[in-house]
Amino acid sequence: MNKRYVIGNWKMHGSLAMVDAFSRALAYAPSPDVVAAIAPPHPYLGACSDLPHGCGLAGQDCSAHDNGAHTGEVSASMLIEWGCGWVILGHSERRTDLAESDQLIAAKLATASSAGLIPVLCVGESLAVRDAGREETVVREQLRAVLSEQSPASLLVAYEPIWAIGTGVTASPEQANAMHAVIRDELTALTEDGASVPLLYGGSVNPDNARGLFDCPHVDGALVGGASLDATSFSKIVEAAQASLEK
Ligand code: PEP
Repeated sequence: MNKRYVIGNWKMHGSLAMVDAFSRALAYAPSPDVVAAIAPPHPYLGACSDLPHGCGLAGQDCSAHDNGAHTGEVSASMLIEWGCGWVILGHSERRTDLAESDQLIAAKLATASSAGLIPVLCVGESLAVRDAGREETVVREQLRAVLSEQSPASLLVAYEPIWAIGTGVTASPEQANAMHAVIRDELTALTEDGASVPLLYGGSVNPDNARGLFDCPHVDGALVGGASLDATSFSKIVEAAQASLEK
């Protein structure tokens, strides 16, 4: 697969001042083969509409409903109106903090996709699951619970082991690559276009470890949390993605 994806998830961080500073400090040369995008908190999408170097926008979540009486929710079409091309769905923080079920995530995926957004579906195991040697089973189950033959052709999957998110403990390139091979195998069995779905790794990616991950044959990009808040770090990760394609 000759493309790389670097998507920054700002979570509930940032401010208008931070958006301004980020925009001025972004410093990577755009490449047609590397998709770079930021998922800021929804209120800052408008302020991020003009990021330089073709940096795109993603939503951090969207409603399973098209519109209606759903206080606090943001619809897929609203995200599109603010320039989003992607939406992160099933992030472990939402699965845990907001008890999002696989069923709800599947409904959001269908709604987002029919509105025209490309879902970035997050899966990943807890430390207890990995310690018990059940990580492969659990990740396969997460995929099966949300995806089917009817799943959209345009989809990204992010493998985000929970033990690596925000901890500074990154999965080794070998661990990430091995799980991505499992995900590819499951996607190929589950969906018609599973062989071509880009697979992103997420969990404490930074400018120092990004290249090692991008060089893995089954890793097509990264979902970046903490390191995406700093434009210089984010830019270096985008550059690492470019360099991995040029090797
Ligand atoms: C995330 O939450 O999607 C993430 C990958 O966070 P971090 O890079 O901070 O581990």
